[in-house]
Amino acid sequence: MRIPLIAGNWKMHMMVRESVNFAKDLWELIKDTKDREVLVCPPFTSLYAVRQAIEGTTIKLGAQNLNWEDAGAFTGAIAPPMLVDVGCEYVIIGHSERRKIWGNSNEDVNKKAHAAIRSGLKPIMCVGETLEEKEADLTRQVVGTQVEVGLKDLTASELKDLVIAYEPVWAIGTGKNDDPAQANKTISFIRDVLGSRFGHNFSQKIRILYGGSVKPDNVDGFMNMSDIDGTLVGGASLKVESFARIVKFKYEEANQDVHR
Ligand code: PEP
Repeated sequence: MRIPLIAGNWKMHMMVRESVNFAKDLWELIKDTKDREVLVCPPFTSLYAVRQAIEGTTIKLGAQNLNWEDAGAFTGAIAPPMLVDVGCEYVIIGHSERRKIWGNSNEDVNKKAHAAIRSGLKPIMCVGETLEEKEADLTRQVVGTQVEVGLKDLTASELKDLVIAYEPVWAIGTGKNDDPAQANKTISFIRDVLGSRFGHNFSQKIRILYGGSVKPDNVDGFMNMSDIDGTLVGGASLKVESFARIVKFKYEEANQDVHR
């Protein structure tokens, strides 16, 4: 069974006090919602305070990035053991903004995946094609390479807690979400890539999320798809009511067992 994961990526938003208030308010709104995992990924500056605010709840904590070295002269960088120390369970790697703005390559993402796993963090590895790549019919090629290279030299047992987020770059922050059925096809292709590399059983256990303009009014469409195991949410994770509604996504009657 793949437990759905709803993850909020706050990006470079929210001061410490706002982050703490958000976490507490979120818990009040979602505490009766079962059978799904909820994760918030605040900016580094809020991690410690949010960790304390979610104490005693089931909300999980994640970071938005890491450096691949464990310590040393890397001004401005955050090491994986520091994220563990502050209470993170997850870390996002290879987000398209890190790839585009900071030039993270697939090889860099692979180093980050190794570093996360070495420290016991669960990596959420983002993959996705740009608009040009989509229009040139290169989605599978691009995403397949991102998965292959990003997971290079890692074993199935090391990757048991891996999460992949399929986030078409053209859908991030644009209000133009992918069609759920189309996203499901790409995610099913990603599962096949995992299957060829690590075996069918492994591929059936790994959670693959969709991300890209997920909102309260479209989340149900994604979550009723057979291969979509959750969502990575940017903009709509910054308003507590909106994120809470996404957490409370609804299955259609016929799809109660869609992820089982
Ligand atoms: C993201 O940043 O990972 C994301 C999916 O953003 P948005 O939901 O705003 O498109």
